[in-house]
Parts: sequence; structure tokens; C-alpha cells
Amino acid sequence: MAKKSFLEQLINSPLAAKAGVPQGYPLRRYKQGEPLLHAPIVVGGQGRLTDALNTVLEGPYKLLKAEADSPRAGIVFDATGLTRPEDLNQLHSFFHPQIKKVADNARLVVIGTTPELIDDADARIAARALEGFTRSLAKEMRKAATVQLVYVDPAIDSSNFSTVESTLRFLLSGKSAYVDGQVIRVTPAPAEAPADWEKPLAGRLAVVTGAARGIGAVIAETLARDGASVICVDIPQAGEGLTATANKVKGTALPLDVTDPAAADKLAQHAQERYGKKIDVLVHNAGVTRDKLLANMDDSKWNMVQNINLIAPVRITEKLLAAGALGEKPAVIGVSSTSGIAGNRGQTNYATTKAGVIGFVDSLKDRLAEIGGNINAVAPGFIETDMTAAMPTGPREVGRRINSLQQGGQPVDVAETVAYFASTASTSVNGNTVRVCGQSMLGA
Ligand code: NAD
Repeated sequence: MAKKSFLEQLINSPLAAKAGVPQGYPLRRYKQGEPLLHAPIVVGGQGRLTDALNTVLEGPYKLLKAEADSPRAGIVFDATGLTRPEDLNQLHSFFHPQIKKVADNARLVVIGTTPELIDDADARIAARALEGFTRSLAKEMRKAATVQLVYVDPAIDSSNFSTVESTLRFLLSGKSAYVDGQVIRVTPAPAEAPADWEKPLAGRLAVVTGAARGIGAVIAETLARDGASVICVDIPQAGEGLTATANKVKGTALPLDVTDPAAADKLAQHAQERYGKKIDVLVHNAGVTRDKLLANMDDSKWNMVQNINLIAPVRITEKLLAAGALGEKPAVIGVSSTSGIAGNRGQTNYATTKAGVIGFVDSLKDRLAEIGGNINAVAPGFIETDMTAAMPTGPREVGRRINSLQQGGQPVDVAETVAYFASTASTSVNGNTVRVCGQSMLGA
């Protein structure tokens, strides 16, 4: 990481904090072996999932009565019973007395029914309204507390509620420390709980592209921490970093340019030769930027970014699917960007590819569901990497702070979201793009 300039040190100092420059409250991240949350949680609301919620949550969490005064590290509100616009006042009556009792780094989660799957007009309106509530409350929270909305398919009830468990464990823990103001949709596809929630990827074989450094290296480490074997892929020129990551995660290194027309075959062959199995988790992390205003952008800058960021992930996935080279309940994960959602000056090439990744996820979700798998994308915002450290001081310091958590994220924040998608406990999480951006003001 680049050395901090004097100006950067000053902006991030207690003196600047006194002068009103936002510094962001320290994020409490997940540590293996520690409880998922540092204080009890409250379960509120009344709907078709309330009993199941209490049953699933009383295992990993301590539950607290809503009336109690002691601090709560989490609140889960079942809003599936709000079926008319008039019912939305229950959001106010429940949350209003709760807010001042939440601990630092608290996790608030509202559960609703997926609006587009509801026939009744009143219920559909009430379910859609939850988005405005959660996104606004997320912007009001302080001390690194976050708020999310989980839309649950109407076909999910207490008999198949286990499909929602991996999402709750992710959102109600330090794994989602830099995820804020997000909406995640859960389907009724059967999800398989792991034998050990601390090793949810045990027995899974994962491929991570762009693993020599930055976010990709940390994704490889996080998947390995969770029990996966990892094939680390990067261009031959990045060999040193690639070997370092592979050694660290006790995986294998495969020097390979993802734009190689034979890339899919080489991946499948490596998996068979070195592990004797198919690929279970495919993380398309390799990506490049070549920023220029469109008026000044030559063909090579346009084409390189398209080929690496979008065309390679699409063609590799199609070929592996067609060849039957993906394993049981395969998880495919794309890496998008908030630039692909909001657009960014100087990044027409990059934002095209990152929005394309969202289209890629959407186009393949039914195909992956057919074979018991899932496909999702993570969309990072400002993440502290070599790339962002190299930005000029002004845009960097603004970029870090223009989000509800008022700080940049760490590569591990992206990696935790990828690991959540990668588990067979998350096959019911399909077709989502989850932003890891601290609820950046850029994009929805
Ligand atoms: P990085 O430049 O540090 O790492 C990217 C890695 O991809 C490098 O090791 C590089 O060698 C590899 N790579 C490039 N071209 C390749 C190819 N043709 N074949 C195989 N490997 C190739 O970048 P990063 O910041 O770690 O970003 C990782 C991903 O996250 C990218 O897709 C990026 O667009 C995305 N992202 C990053 C941020 C951020 O703030 N850093 C924000 C949004 C999205």
C-alpha cells in the first residue's frame, strides 16, 4: 500500500475530526471463533415467518425482549404481516422506541415478501414501501450500524425457512460490516445447511480469477478460511503474487489470461488433474480500468476492458456449463461495481462491462437454478486497495466518505459477500447484485 502523504494524514487525523471532517466509526468485522454479534438481538413484527425466525435465530444468537432497555446488537422485524398501506404505521411504532437502544455496529434487518410476486395490490404496495423505509433508516444510523431489507418469496413459510438462514447469518454479523442499505431477494430453492457454519465451504472447489493481489487475493483467503480448496488464476506476468496467494491458501496457482480462447478448457482440466473434480465455485474477479473520456478513448482501451471484465466471464461460464464442467450446486459470482450502477465520468468502457456483469447474472439465474446452483454479483464501492491508494488526494478523500459509513471498505468486505454467495446454504440466493459500498451516494 502506498505511503500516506502529509495531506492524507492530516485529513484523517483527530484534528480534522474536530474540524468536522467525517472519520467513520470503526467497523467491527467478523472473526472466526467469535460470536456473530457482540450483544443480544430483538425479533419484532408479526407475520407468516415470525415463529420460524425465532426458532432459527435462537441457535446462534441471544434473544432479547423488545421492551428491554439493554443494548441490542441486532433487530429483525418480520414485516410480512403488513399487507395494506395502512399497516405501515407498525414500522414507526416498532422502530421508533428501538433506535436509541441499539449498540454500535448494530445490524437491523427487515423481512418482507417479494413485491413483484404478490398478486394483491394493497399487499404489493406495502411490501414495496419497505425499501424506502430501510434505505432511509440506513442513512440515519450512527456508529457503524446498518439496515438491510430481505425480500422472501411468497412460497417460503415456516416449513422451508432454512432457505433464509445463510442470509440472516451474513447480515446479522460482522461479515456484512460494509454492506448497508441493501435489498436481497431469497427464492424457495432448497438450500443445504453446512455441517459446520464456520466451514460452510468444506469440500467445495473454487476458482478465483485475478487472485495475485488486491480483492482477488483476499477472496481466495476468505474462501479457504471457510473450507474451500482454491485454484488461484492470474496472468503469467503476475506469477510472483499468484504463487504467494496460492501458498498462503494452500491452493494451486494457474497462470492464465482469462481472455485466452481456451481458458474454460484449461480451468476444467486443471480442476480434474489437480483435484479430480469439477469446479463448484467460479469467481470472476479479474478486472481492469483504462479510464478516458469517450472522446479521447482509443479502440485498444475500449476493447481490453470489454474483453477482460465482461466477455471473458460470460464465455468461460457458458463453456463450462455446456461442457458439464461445473460441480454440484455450482455458485457463479461476478464482480460488478457501483460505477456500473451509477455511471462514472471517464469510465464508459468500465461501467459498460460492470453493468453488463449485472445483466450476465440476470440472464443466467434460471439456468443455474435448473442445475441447483446460483449466480450473483457483488458491486464494490470505494475499497482500500492499491488502485484507490493511487488516486489523487482530493477525489480519494471524498470517495472514501460519500457513503453512510463515511469510510472506505476493505477487500475482506467484498470477500465475505462472495463467500456468502458461494455456500450451498445460499442456493436460494440467486440473481442478486449486492453492493459493498457502505451505502454509497453513487447509484441506487
Ligand atoms: P487489482 O488491479 O488490484 O487486481 C486485479 C487482478 O486481476 C490483478 O492481479 C491482475 O493481474 C488480474 N488480471 C487483470 N487482467 C487479467 C486477465 N486478463 N487474466 C487474468 N487475470 C487478470 O484490482 P482490485 O482493486 O483488486 O479489483 C478486483 C475486482 O474488483 C475488479 O474486477 C475490479 O473492477 C473490481 N472493483 C474494485 C474496486 C476497488 O475499489 N478496488 C471497486 C469496484 C470494483
